[in-house]
Amino acid sequence: MNKNESISGLILAGGRGSRMGHVDKGLQPFQGSTMAAHVLARLAPQVASVAINANQNLGTYAAFGVTVWQDDLEGFAGPLAGLETGLRRCATPYLLTAPCDSPFLPPDLGERLFAALEAQDADLAFAATQEPGMRVQAHPVFCLVKTALLPVLSAYLAEGGRRMDGWYKDLKAVEVLFEDVDAFRNINTLDELHSLDPTRPPRLADVTSCLSAYDPEALPVRDAQRIIREFVQPVGAVEQVALRAALGRVLAHDIVSPINVPAHDNSAMDGYALRGDDLVLDGDTYLKVVGTVYAGRPSDAAPGPGECVRIMTGGVMPEGCDSVVPQEFVAQESAAGIVLRAGTLRAGDNRRFAGEDLKAGSPALRAGKIIRPADLGLVASLGIAEVPVVRRLRVAFFSTGDELRSIGQALDAGSVYDSNRYTIYGMLQRLGCEIVDMGIVRDDPAALEAALRSACENADAIITSGGVSVGAADYTRQIMARLGDVTFWKIGMRPGRPLAFGRIASNGRSAFLFGLPGNPVAVMVSFYFFAREALLRMMGADAPLPLLRARSEGAIRKKPGRTEYQRGILSHGDDGMPQVRITGAQGSGILRSMSEANCMVVLHDEQGNVGAGDSVDVLMFEGLV
Ligand code: AMP
Ligand code: MG
Repeated sequence: MNKNESISGLILAGGRGSRMGHVDKGLQPFQGSTMAAHVLARLAPQVASVAINANQNLGTYAAFGVTVWQDDLEGFAGPLAGLETGLRRCATPYLLTAPCDSPFLPPDLGERLFAALEAQDADLAFAATQEPGMRVQAHPVFCLVKTALLPVLSAYLAEGGRRMDGWYKDLKAVEVLFEDVDAFRNINTLDELHSLDPTRPPRLADVTSCLSAYDPEALPVRDAQRIIREFVQPVGAVEQVALRAALGRVLAHDIVSPINVPAHDNSAMDGYALRGDDLVLDGDTYLKVVGTVYAGRPSDAAPGPGECVRIMTGGVMPEGCDSVVPQEFVAQESAAGIVLRAGTLRAGDNRRFAGEDLKAGSPALRAGKIIRPADLGLVASLGIAEVPVVRRLRVAFFSTGDELRSIGQALDAGSVYDSNRYTIYGMLQRLGCEIVDMGIVRDDPAALEAALRSACENADAIITSGGVSVGAADYTRQIMARLGDVTFWKIGMRPGRPLAFGRIASNGRSAFLFGLPGNPVAVMVSFYFFAREALLRMMGADAPLPLLRARSEGAIRKKPGRTEYQRGILSHGDDGMPQVRITGAQGSGILRSMSEANCMVVLHDEQGNVGAGDSVDVLMFEGLV
């Protein structure tokens, strides 16, 4: 491998990572560092110097010790924008590019492209590979370009050209075949990334470094939700349970139908099964009745032309019949025959097809579904007695605060009864968690540490309330931080704001931690909007909060720039449409208005004042898991 002093390297990291959920691809953690750092390590020895083209997280890239160049061209984050920027700033006669998501790029990339370019007196050289029996695949993002070609590229871009392999169509370009196909593998999805680097559980910093602007002191709700979503991991373990016991649990694998449901074509009505061809379109139809088919009783009735069979709902359609006339539509009826008026029936009416509900071999239920009563019935209709569900999530929780008293204790001056213990219990119970109720823990470092350690050793997740706000005794935060990877946020929301989140470890066991604020309403809001989805994800379920739209009865004052949750009462207006009004005092400690409410009005970050009659998002309490 030779260093070529006439070549500058350029790592293309300007994309928006749209296939990775809009994370910054180059900064994705990969095998001990980040993807872009791997590319840098492989490119640097080949060239005089390396620069990175990026449009976000510029400081993080600069910390690699390289020059960072932003696109000059606005509104287009494709690789050509980066290339143009690079050519414009490049101080050597050649520029070599590589994408930030190619951590395995060949160590002789520059050397071989340069040799081919010189040998053929070309303007540009790019890499290609060929798998056995396949066509040659070009990799135009791995290319060596003469810096002097800047005007050609600029002209192409000015005309609206955007394709990496389109701009050099009138130039002399050489394709250089490389043997190692994997060296050009780029990583496009987070799943791909994790499958290549399964060794390490993610750290919070890995996740937060991908946000384009991360400020723990002023974190928007949706960023907090995203960090939590990406950080928590499903427990994975599966258990087989009897069908009834699966109610409310999360299905661990798809359930594939072993049979057609229904198994046979059958009648949807009580009436007469007939041949559609026999229907007279412009006059009465006379049909002779030749037998009766009951549901569940096989029959060998096989009516010929001009004949029909009396049939009950669910009865198997006799051979040759394709329609059923409901008995109330029959004009005349006797043991011998029936008369139908013209237009009573169309051929094919009231026949249910075999497999109409479910076809054999097709998935009846998908993994990740929370099993509801209809699902129990569906599984039963397939004759399946047991189903695989994700094991119950164990969640330990406790309340913190010296002022807290348990029910049954005397309420001395300045103390309050611990209500969070009960709301949290209720919310966890609804989620179907296995609950470890640890009661009240005093504001005392040793007691807190012991409680957190015990929770960690006995549960998958820990929920605490109180002690995470700024005014609270600091050691709660200190101890949480000492036991693991925990971050403390001030979230742009009301009520709520302080939240501790992360993972702590003790004696080789670890658990995800949600340190909720202490105020009784804040605790519920934080649970519903942060902990709930995370716990469901750990259980393998994907169940976003079911928000619906309703008309606001009155005006609501709202500051843009933070999310507000107001307690509301949803009802129906005179026009039958859902409408909502705010209820009671909205202070974050006032649980009574939470209890009076039947929903929460969600006013998102960007939303300003709400006018009477405007639509708002609403989260219903009933039906919420
Ligand atoms: P903290 O977050 O610990 O500063 O608590 C904020 C407020 O919530 C204080 O007024 C506490 O008394 C109250 N609080 C904290 N925990 C509970 C609880 N478990 N039940 C009822 N109120 C609580
Ligand atoms: Mg407290």
